[in-house]
Amino acid sequence: MKQKTYNIPAITKFQQKYQTNKAKPQQLKIASINTQRGTAIYGNWKMNPSTVEEAVALSHDIMLKLDPYFKTKPATAEVGICPPSGLMTIVNGMLLDSRAAKPVQIGAQNIHHEKKGAFTGEMSASLVKSLGASCVIIGHSERRGGQSAYESNKQINQKLNLAIDSKLLPIFCIGETLKEKELGKKYDILATQLFEGLKGLKEKIKSGNEMIIAYEPVWAIGTGKTATSKDAQDTIFYIRRFLSHLIGIEKALKIRIQYGGSMNEKNAMELLSQPDIDGGLIGGASLKAPEFSKIVQAADVKQKIHQDEKAATEAIKQFNLIQANALERLQKAKISRSRFYDTTEAMLKDLKAKKQLQQPTQIEIKPRASV
Ligand code: PEP
Repeated sequence: MKQKTYNIPAITKFQQKYQTNKAKPQQLKIASINTQRGTAIYGNWKMNPSTVEEAVALSHDIMLKLDPYFKTKPATAEVGICPPSGLMTIVNGMLLDSRAAKPVQIGAQNIHHEKKGAFTGEMSASLVKSLGASCVIIGHSERRGGQSAYESNKQINQKLNLAIDSKLLPIFCIGETLKEKELGKKYDILATQLFEGLKGLKEKIKSGNEMIIAYEPVWAIGTGKTATSKDAQDTIFYIRRFLSHLIGIEKALKIRIQYGGSMNEKNAMELLSQPDIDGGLIGGASLKAPEFSKIVQAADVKQKIHQDEKAATEAIKQFNLIQANALERLQKAKISRSRFYDTTEAMLKDLKAKKQLQQPTQIEIKPRASV
């Protein structure tokens, strides 16, 4: 199979101080093809829509678009919507009322970092859970960066702890600003956010299913500027590799990592076809039922890739088997490998010269060392 190359920077000195394993950690070296993680497409409605009526209409439209798709076959992606907290119950009711084979999950956009108490205007993890949420967005850049709050990494860490304890699936958002990117600090920022956010969580993350991470470059959120699929893949691969230092390679391979930042119906398939991108966190496009539904369906590309990869692996296995058998026979006949290759190459040349080979052969045969 064609080997892909990725521009992943080495773990820097700055990032090394975050390695929690004293022993030299095992590093992920190649992109991890998503075979078991599954794909998660979640909509973040932010402070939209403006009324209950609009929310009901949007939920209805989304289900109208998704119902037929869900009915034809099991959906590839896990799907969820995170409306404003005041709309959670009503939207949840709409999604549950749907006849969809696979109901859409409901999530919150935030929880408070303390369990309960005198915190005017806030929502606790347990309340969010009892309102029907199964997940919660944590550390969104609009809350970290001062648009809604100035959340610190420490508070985000507390929220992640609370969410997992309350059996809510946190969607942990990380990402660099444009300035940080331009200053070449992207990977340091991501390492810091991961290290600080996941402090003390190593033991709570048991299977890897307890959390989703969303890589959301801040400069791409709501701007219409998307990271290129290669950039998004490279960065998410870096995140997974850094995670392997923090929580171990096996769990790092199981955690789903989404891309978020102006994902839309046009770029979703390209982004989702990257091996380490396990879904999307969708802002603006989740407010348009037809577009959101197309993004959900774009996740089918993952299944197709798995099938193709399986077929390719099988074909390679078969080819190697045939080759191995041929070599074994040659060895038994005490003919050297190089003679086998030389002979085969000579035969191919001969056939080409005689124009008996219409197509150039796909298999490149190179002489190897003698047995
Ligand atoms: C978001 O808010 O998480 C987001 C990704 O927004 P948008 O898709 O609009 O960029």
